[in-house]
Amino acid sequence: MTQSVPETFKGFGVDKKENWNKPKLVEYKHKQINPHDIVLENEACGLCYSDIHTLQSNWGPYNRNDLVVGHEIVGKVIAVGSAVTQFKVGQRVGIGAGNSACRECGRCNHDNEQYCKKMAGTYNNVDPRSNGYVTQGGYSSHSIADEQFAFAIPESLPSTAAAPLMCAGITVFSPLIRNLGKDAKGKTVGIIGIGGLGHLAVQFANALGAKVVAFSRSSAKKEQALKLGAHEFVATGEEKDWTSKYDDEFDFILNCASGIDGLNLSDYLSVLKVDSKFISVGLPPAKEQFGVSPFTFLKNGVAFGSSLLGSKTEVTEMLRLAAENDIKPWIEEVPISEENCSKALERCVAGDVRYRFVFTEFDKAFN
Ligand code: NDP
Ligand code: ZN
Repeated sequence: MTQSVPETFKGFGVDKKENWNKPKLVEYKHKQINPHDIVLENEACGLCYSDIHTLQSNWGPYNRNDLVVGHEIVGKVIAVGSAVTQFKVGQRVGIGAGNSACRECGRCNHDNEQYCKKMAGTYNNVDPRSNGYVTQGGYSSHSIADEQFAFAIPESLPSTAAAPLMCAGITVFSPLIRNLGKDAKGKTVGIIGIGGLGHLAVQFANALGAKVVAFSRSSAKKEQALKLGAHEFVATGEEKDWTSKYDDEFDFILNCASGIDGLNLSDYLSVLKVDSKFISVGLPPAKEQFGVSPFTFLKNGVAFGSSLLGSKTEVTEMLRLAAENDIKPWIEEVPISEENCSKALERCVAGDVRYRFVFTEFDKAFN
C-alpha cells in the first residue's frame, strides 16, 4: 500500500433530516483499508435521488451525524490494499452504490454480489468488515471500496459522463439485460419516469433493439425522450385512455420513478403480455406503498418485482454497450461546494434537472 492516504477525509455532510438541503463541510476519520480495498481521490460524483431519500430519512434514520451521501463516484486510485489484484495506483475508477460484500457466499461467487446478505452500501451503512464503521459517500475528497465494487473507466469516457453510469446506469441496465437478453428486437419495453435512471433506461433499451415507450407524468419531456431513443411517448397525466391504445403490447415494463403518487400500477400491469414482468427499480419513501390484490395480476398472469444495482460483470457489459452506441447521460455539471450541493438537492426534488447533476472541481473544494 502507498502512504499517500490522508488520516481524515473531507466531505459535505448533513447532521439531521431537517437539514437535508444544507450540507456543511465536515472532516472525518476514514474507514479502515481492508486487503481488497482501493482508495480513490474523488473527481466527480452524480446526484442520485437515493441521496435525497437518505438525507430526508425517507427510508430510515441517519447512522451518523455528519452523513455524506453520493454514490456515483469517479476518481483516481491513490492506494491499494495488500490483496488487490485488479487496480493500480493512478488508474481512473468508478464506485457505485455498493461498497463491499462478504466475498464468500454463493451470491458473491455467482455474479450477484450486490445481493450479498452482508453487502455494505456506499453511505449510511454499517460495514461489518470494518468494525461497524458507518460508510461515507462521494460528496467528499476520497472514497474507499472493495475492488469488486470498483470499475475501470474506459479512457474515452470523461469522468463526469461515467459517474451517473455507476449507479443510475447499472441499475437500469441489469434488469433490462436480465429480462430481455442481449437482443431485444421485436420486443416492446415501457420505461416509467424520465429522470436520471429513466433517461438512461430509454437509451439502453433502444440500444438492445427494443421498441421503447417512455411514460412521463406530463408532456414536458416528450421531445427529449424521443431524442434519447424512445419510439413513442405517453404523458400519463394528460392521456387518460392510454391503456386501450397499448392493450397486450408490453414484453417488459421498468419503473424508474422516485415516488408513486403519480403512478397507477394496475394500469401498467393491464397492458403487459401474458407471463411478463413489471420491475420497479424506483424506490419511493418507505411509507408509500402500492395497493395491489392478486386479482390485479390474474388476467394476464404477470409478475411484479424489483432489482438492486447490478453485478461487476454487468457493469463491464454496460460500459461496452455504452461505448458501442455512444450512450451518455445528459448532465449538468456543478462545482462542488456547500451552496451548490444545497441548490442541486433542492432542484432535483423540484424535478428541475435534465437529467443528472454531476459535482465537479473536487480539488478546489477540498484542498
Ligand atoms: P430522478 O428524480 O432523477 O427521476 C425520477 C423520475 O420519477 C422523475 O423525473 C419523474 O419522471 C418521476 N417521478 C418523480 N416523482 C414521482 C411521483 N411522485 N410519482 C410518479 N413519478 C414520479 O430520480 P432518479 O432517477 O435518481 O431515481 C429514481 C428512483 O430510483 C429513486 O427512487 C431512487 O431511490 C431509485 N434508485 C433505485 C436503485 C435500485 O438499485 N433499485 C438505485 C438507484 C436509484 P417524469 O417527470 O417523467 O414523470
Ligand atoms: Zn443511486
